[in-house]
Amino acid sequence: MKDKNKNPKKILIIGAGPGGLAAGMLLARRGHLVTIFEKHGFVGGRTSTFTMEGFRFDLGSTFLIMKSVFEELFHKVGRELDVEMDLQNIDPLYRLVYPEGKEFHPSSDREKMKKEMARCFPEEEGGYQAFLDKESIKYQMMVPFLKQAYDNPRIFFQPGFLMKLPGIDAHISLYRKLGQYFKGDLLKQAFTFQSKYLGMSPWHCPGTFSIIPFIEHRYGIFHPIGGLGALTKTMGRIFQEEGGTLLLNQEVTEVLVEQGEAKGLQLKDGKQILGDCVIMNADFSKGMEKLVPERHRKKYTDKKLRNMKYSCSTFMIYLGLNRQYDFPHHQVLFSSDYKKNMNQLTRDYQLPEDPAVYLQNPWKTDPTLAPPGKSTLYILVPVPNNRSKIPWDTLKEQFKEEILDLVEKRGGYPRLREAIEVEKIITPKDWEEEMDLYFGATFSLSHNINQMLYYRPHNRYEDVKDLYLVGGSTHPGSGLPTILISAAITSELIDGIRK
Ligand SMILES: Cc1cc2nc3c(=O)[nH]c(=O)nc-3n(C[C@H](O)[C@H](O)[C@H](O)COP(=O)(O)OP(=O)(O)OC[C@H]3O[C@@H](n4cnc5c(N)ncnc54)[C@H](O)[C@@H]3O)c2cc1C
Repeated sequence: MKDKNKNPKKILIIGAGPGGLAAGMLLARRGHLVTIFEKHGFVGGRTSTFTMEGFRFDLGSTFLIMKSVFEELFHKVGRELDVEMDLQNIDPLYRLVYPEGKEFHPSSDREKMKKEMARCFPEEEGGYQAFLDKESIKYQMMVPFLKQAYDNPRIFFQPGFLMKLPGIDAHISLYRKLGQYFKGDLLKQAFTFQSKYLGMSPWHCPGTFSIIPFIEHRYGIFHPIGGLGALTKTMGRIFQEEGGTLLLNQEVTEVLVEQGEAKGLQLKDGKQILGDCVIMNADFSKGMEKLVPERHRKKYTDKKLRNMKYSCSTFMIYLGLNRQYDFPHHQVLFSSDYKKNMNQLTRDYQLPEDPAVYLQNPWKTDPTLAPPGKSTLYILVPVPNNRSKIPWDTLKEQFKEEILDLVEKRGGYPRLREAIEVEKIITPKDWEEEMDLYFGATFSLSHNINQMLYYRPHNRYEDVKDLYLVGGSTHPGSGLPTILISAAITSELIDGIRK
């Protein structure tokens, strides 16, 4: 039953991404009068699906991990995740293809994984066990860490806080951390490529994030039937069932600030909407630059925003195919020089010469995404963000052809081109211009140590009273589970449940 609230607030949320929807669900459930203003005609932002001639595609997110965080959100609004959604466990986790042709198919099923390790990396079986045991301890320590708000430096002086820091490996790189478990480069690659989920190189990404491969191996990867967009559509429905108002095709052009306090929103159609507080789910840097006049930003001036570190971007190809390829749901085709590829993406801002590619081939798990006998193929190529100045409009067709060659040859997809019925491309320029991502950085602000915890934009924005943030660019960071945690933190700060 919906909670009664003696002092309901009028809360205005900019954006119906997973962050905005989750915050909306929680606050509407607690009896507030919540309205979400979404620029596009659909919910979900980067976690939405779109349709082309009977083929349905995930736009961005394809992995659902840390299922318990989703269950917790649904519980808080009186729902059961498994009743509201049909979630499939993905096994194997992924098909990893090395340039020399070797393949590794890790699984979250312990018996299958044992056999796969014995087949591919028999000398490293002990390291795998150590990885599971030690990372489990770190994971237990990390979860309460992530669930805290970090808007006050006093947090660093709480009893025991500093003592815990070395335990979360923030001081070493992810690649070095994995070197503590595995000797061979191929296996290290299989347990560090996940830093690309954060758009970072494993040589720069903090060792803290070894919990991502741990979570995949220990708790599995899930796919909601209907695509990841089915998750955000369900969240949008629940938000409205809880009394929230969802307004699509409503672009916000300014956060109205008076005497240092957020008072409401200016909409593109000329209307002004007043409220008690505003939550920004739009990408932090783009949102600040476009919606909050610089005079209200002491800390995050335009110059500061430009100089912050951003994740890489992605070049996307979505194909509707007239046939089905018998490969696992998730696949990664590694580049032949892992470190060079990472440096080109995140340090040198160059188009990768030998790109790594992620493929989603979901027809076996989810027959709702394509007509019978047909399939969809989602191709994601990590590329530099728009600091690079790569002229995507002139390059995109040529780059697409290179990638299709690579998928045909290295990926083992013969005659792929002949099977294409429909296709769509999204470049970093499109991510920036159409999805409003600063520098087209698809995974938001980078997660280097000076942009994490207290040093990440705070859930309660410090320069304007009653302005809050939610989503991948605030604490705890990019990725669906952490975004849902950000929604819990932000909603509790608004309600005074947290100080
Ligand atoms: C290609 C790609 C793959 C990814 N894969 C995964 C994955 O597999 N698993 C995972 O956990 N995460 C993944 N992510 C990362 C992340 O979890 C998702 O991007 C997630 O959708 C980010 O959520 P968010 O709430 O921060 O913002 P968004 O999803 O970006 O939502 C923000 C919303 O705000 C709206 N908005 C912006 N400006 C305005 C305005 N002025 N007025 C009104 N509305 C506005 C936007 O239209 C959008 O709907 C991926 C991201 C990308 C791009």
